Amino acid sequence: MALPKKGDLNEEEKALLEVIGKGNTEEASKLLGSKTVRVNCLDEHGMTPLMHAAYKGKVDICRLLLRHGADVNCNDHEHGYTALMFAGLSGNKEITWMMLEAGAEMDVVNSVGRTAAQMAAFVGQHDCVTVINNFFPREKLNYYTKPQGLDKEPKLPVKLAGPLHKIITTTNLHPVKIVLLVKENPLLAEVEAMQKCYKVLDLICEKCMKQREMNEVLAMKMHYISCIFKKCILFLKEREDKLDGLIKSLLKGRERDGFPVYQEKIIRESIRKFPYCEATLLQQLVRSIAPVEIGSDPTAFSVLTQAITGQVGFVEAEFCTTCGEKGAGKRCSICKMVIYCDQTCQKMHWFTHKKSCSMLKTTYEKQMVESAKEKNKEAAQTAASTLTSEEQLTSEPEIHKDMEIKSIGDQTEMIPNMKMTASSPVVGNFLEEEITSANIVNEKVQESEE
Ligand SMILES: [Zn+2]
Ligand SMILES: [Zn+2]
Repeated sequence: MALPKKGDLNEEEKALLEVIGKGNTEEASKLLGSKTVRVNCLDEHGMTPLMHAAYKGKVDICRLLLRHGADVNCNDHEHGYTALMFAGLSGNKEITWMMLEAGAEMDVVNSVGRTAAQMAAFVGQHDCVTVINNFFPREKLNYYTKPQGLDKEPKLPVKLAGPLHKIITTTNLHPVKIVLLVKENPLLAEVEAMQKCYKVLDLICEKCMKQREMNEVLAMKMHYISCIFKKCILFLKEREDKLDGLIKSLLKGRERDGFPVYQEKIIRESIRKFPYCEATLLQQLVRSIAPVEIGSDPTAFSVLTQAITGQVGFVEAEFCTTCGEKGAGKRCSICKMVIYCDQTCQKMHWFTHKKSCSMLKTTYEKQMVESAKEKNKEAAQTAASTLTSEEQLTSEPEIHKDMEIKSIGDQTEMIPNMKMTASSPVVGNFLEEEITSANIVNEKVQESEE
């Protein structure tokens, strides 16, 4: 079959592009089965079907095209865009990942001199930037599964390459998450395997720093994971509860405010131990972390995550309190101050969270009262300026005062600001609501203690 020329599409190929646009996987599959359809055909702009599917965020069709031999590195686009660039522009993490797995070159630049990661960053698709920056080709790891030079055996047993690859390409660097990833694979979760793995990580780290195009970010990531692995070894050797013991230690909050001190210290220590002290990234990290008192913001985890994933606008509030996974949406129903991925994460955290939950609840309520006061101050100002008669001004507060006294009762301890708010009618209303919900919550606390 002749090499595809730009815009030289037959009817079936035109139909293929059309069904890709509609996201009709079944139809696309039928067309790709036809002998006359070339999987790498080019439209008039030099776009392949894969580029179209990637740009439009059609995950299943991308997978289908790759299975049919689509060339992920085809570079005939009029402005030098690759399928990976289109994936990055689309903001679809899964497709971006798929292109990389299929062997997409990361360093190719388009006609304006931008790489796929830079293009994605340019349009604000930071999740895709993260995926690209954290990708580590499997072949690079497979190198260590073959004996090199005088070695009799490989540095990394073949069976460990898969699980290790999964860990080093993760974009969630939460120490608990890393330990969970280790734990889920019985081949990995033993001392000897962990030792081999951390040595390979140290070698990759060294390579990243010594190669011509130095990659400090990847070096730091490898070093950090290596440090967590060393902690795993320590717990596997010395603790009866093994990796569960490590997870518990990492999650355990201090008495005062539930802050996980051990976790913070381990991350700080890992960063400090980075063996290349001249690295700019190391100096940046140390500068951001050193002045922060343990327990204050930013945490070492958030600083490290920002540096390694390139994530901007990192808001800790959307990350699972237990494992750091992004997009956690389940809130503790009692305190409403911590969020989790799911019940598994909540259960893992409960042994320590139960000690600070009610205290956090008070903090939450205080915050709500404060913000309500702020809002009401504004509302009162607006209201005052729109009120026409004095009557309205004087009659309102009376009613609310009555209501408050009835409903508040002896709960003064729980909401310390109550006396102040008693003079403000609008806040009075709000408080009543708060107290009712607080009562419900109180009941819940008792339930869960039983
Ligand atoms: Zn709670
Ligand atoms: Zn989680």
